[in-house]
Amino acid sequence: MTGRTHDLAAFTALSFVVATQPIPPDLTIPTVVVALSANFVGGLAPDIDQSTAELWGRIRGGSIWGKLFAPLFGGHRFISHSILGIFIFGYAVKFFLGAISSILIVNMDVVWWAFMIGFVAHLVMDTFTRDGVPWLFPIPIKFGIPPFRALRIKTGGLFEKSIIFPGLIAANIWIYYHYNAKFLDILKHYIN
Ligand SMILES: [Zn+2]
Repeated sequence: MTGRTHDLAAFTALSFVVATQPIPPDLTIPTVVVALSANFVGGLAPDIDQSTAELWGRIRGGSIWGKLFAPLFGGHRFISHSILGIFIFGYAVKFFLGAISSILIVNMDVVWWAFMIGFVAHLVMDTFTRDGVPWLFPIPIKFGIPPFRALRIKTGGLFEKSIIFPGLIAANIWIYYHYNAKFLDILKHYIN
């Protein structure tokens, strides 16, 4: 999947969770802004193991950092694309957010969840691609849907561009239409 598809998938997953789960009463605008950024970073974070990943391209000097750090993750689609990786990144991000919570006053639980939703959405999307995902790393089996590699999606291919990406846009339209009362409630909360 391309970075653009991952961004949209992360946002779609977050929208669905916001639509269907109770919203904490102390949800401030800064929390919303930081959570959206965290969701975006989470949606690209698993590809930190790829020196050419979009995440590296979006930070200053990223191509150098990418070349230095990517090999530490064992190559593309290894530990950061697994259940073990979800736990490791989950703990690391929790620790990091805890460390900056004295200078950044937002609801860090919401920010953490937004990051993790993006992260898991990335792995789910990658599962539909040819390469598959080593969910049970270090067990060296890559899982994919459908199980036959030839039937799966090629990254950046026509299917991703013409079916998956527009499909995610349609999913967002459906979520915001179907749960519009919930989103209006959240908006009213700030207008009053
Ligand atoms: Zn990936």
